[in-house]
Amino acid sequence: MQNANNKFSIVWLKKDLRLLDSEALTEAAKGNYVITLFSLDSNRWNAEDISTRHKIFTLRALMELSSKLEKMKVPLYLANCDLISTLTFFKNQLNHFKLISHEETGNYASFELDKKIQKWCKENNIVWKEMRQNNVIRGLKDRNLWSKKWNQYMRQSCLPIPIFKNNKSSNSIKENCFIQPLSKFSFKEVLKFSKIPYPCFDDASLSIPEKLNEKQNYLISSFFNERIFDYSKNMSSPLTGEFSCSRLSPFLSIGMISLRSLFQEVTKQREKVIKNKADKRLRDFRSFEKRLHWRCHFIQKLESEPSIEHKCLHPKFNNLRNEGSLTNKQEDFLNLWKEGKTGLPFLDACMIYLEKTGWINFRMRAMLISFVSNNLWIHWKHSGLHLAKLFLDYEPGIHWPQVQMQSGTTGINTIRIYNPEKQQDEQDPDFIFTKTWNPNAYSTKKPIVDLKASSNEARKKLWATRKEENFKKIARIVYQNHGSRMKRTVKSAPNKQKPIQLSLID
Ligand SMILES: Cc1cc2nc3c(=O)[nH]c(=O)nc-3n(C[C@H](O)[C@H](O)[C@H](O)COP(=O)(O)OP(=O)(O)OC[C@H]3O[C@@H](n4cnc5c(N)ncnc54)[C@H](O)[C@@H]3O)c2cc1C
Repeated sequence: MQNANNKFSIVWLKKDLRLLDSEALTEAAKGNYVITLFSLDSNRWNAEDISTRHKIFTLRALMELSSKLEKMKVPLYLANCDLISTLTFFKNQLNHFKLISHEETGNYASFELDKKIQKWCKENNIVWKEMRQNNVIRGLKDRNLWSKKWNQYMRQSCLPIPIFKNNKSSNSIKENCFIQPLSKFSFKEVLKFSKIPYPCFDDASLSIPEKLNEKQNYLISSFFNERIFDYSKNMSSPLTGEFSCSRLSPFLSIGMISLRSLFQEVTKQREKVIKNKADKRLRDFRSFEKRLHWRCHFIQKLESEPSIEHKCLHPKFNNLRNEGSLTNKQEDFLNLWKEGKTGLPFLDACMIYLEKTGWINFRMRAMLISFVSNNLWIHWKHSGLHLAKLFLDYEPGIHWPQVQMQSGTTGINTIRIYNPEKQQDEQDPDFIFTKTWNPNAYSTKKPIVDLKASSNEARKKLWATRKEENFKKIARIVYQNHGSRMKRTVKSAPNKQKPIQLSLID
């Protein structure tokens, strides 16, 4: 019910930087004067997993959103102080407002900030309405119903761009040095306001396009019209994946496009080719659609269990690798991995490519983590943080569960240790990718570890843990809470002591 005293609505923008299919903006536009706000609260903005490339991408998207909102007389404020002070500033001027945002499944820092804001709202008698923006369900009781709900949600119509009928005139909010309308800034000024020194730009930050909406539209149309051919086949190699994957992940991560509208676009495009059963693209469409489903499936894991960012999904793995300070040798190994100097030409080329571009395909991400976790036996927290900062599309809800899967610590997925030399043979047999990104590879020394011996050692330790008492019992609970229900391969013959493999689709 709308409270008659609430004349203002403040939309706290998070990872939802769009007008189309925005529950929060639509809700805000229902009656009140709408103000939008992006907070640079250091708990979020300077969190340990956030890097300059993420910030530049977000600021570019915000600038575009601001100029669209400005045309509808909706101001977008950027605040470079803590969020409580920002909200207090607005409360002092407006007397009262309604706070609206989307529900977010973010990193631990964002979760902690949300809790603080909840407390502040309660103390200040401010209603904070959080809206859903995908099929990640807060307080999900029954994982079995999740897929059904996904289908229901994704097939509902997308929300149109809202009309802000109460924003006819400009507002009279006085700004201060910490809280300013974004529209008055040039990009350089925004960088200064957001405390990003220009010399900090790395290659990936420099290559972020100025016009992100244009880039996003280009990626969507080129993907469906042209690049999706052989998507399923080409996605595994970094050489072909660069072109054949949609490359939409960074846009999805900051919510420039809603998952629902992308899903509906896939459905629409697929309808066009469905009549022709011989059209090979059908398989590619199915494969792409499945991945959109996985997106929510993974984020749901972090939503249901925020500790996944810090603790192994299956607790028996918690002390297997060293989570605390590393030994000098491990520190050296970790640095060599980060710098792309492990002596494995293809693996190093992947790391260098990722560093420079902010993206790499799924299989190579899995290989990078598998190597550092298994062959170097370094805890995934150290390596996962490094990759989080490099991935322009960093999405905690996908990232941490995936990092854990590739490190063998979920307890419900098969143990898979990638062999970088085999991957080289399969994905870059002519060394084109390797020579492009790691031209000096063959002048470097031999690998820093013996691949075969270290893989065997890791496999032995992981399986030994899986055979410990109560392992299966706990794994079943993990599966109940997080496992996919799409394909289940639990064998019903328990007499054999074969370790169970509970879920495959991940
Ligand atoms: C260790 C590791 C860490 C990862 N971290 C991230 C991350 O931080 N952010 C992120 O978006 N993806 C992550 N992924 C998943 C995947 O690698 C990327 O989504 C994909 O490479 C992005 O490129 P794309 O948009 O061209 O993908 P496409 O192949 O075009 O897929 C379309 C979309 O589907 C979703 N998707 C694809 N694969 C997966 C998957 N396996 N699980 C969940 N969703 C998926 C993504 O939203 C992606 O944008 C990670 C994978 C691994 C192995």
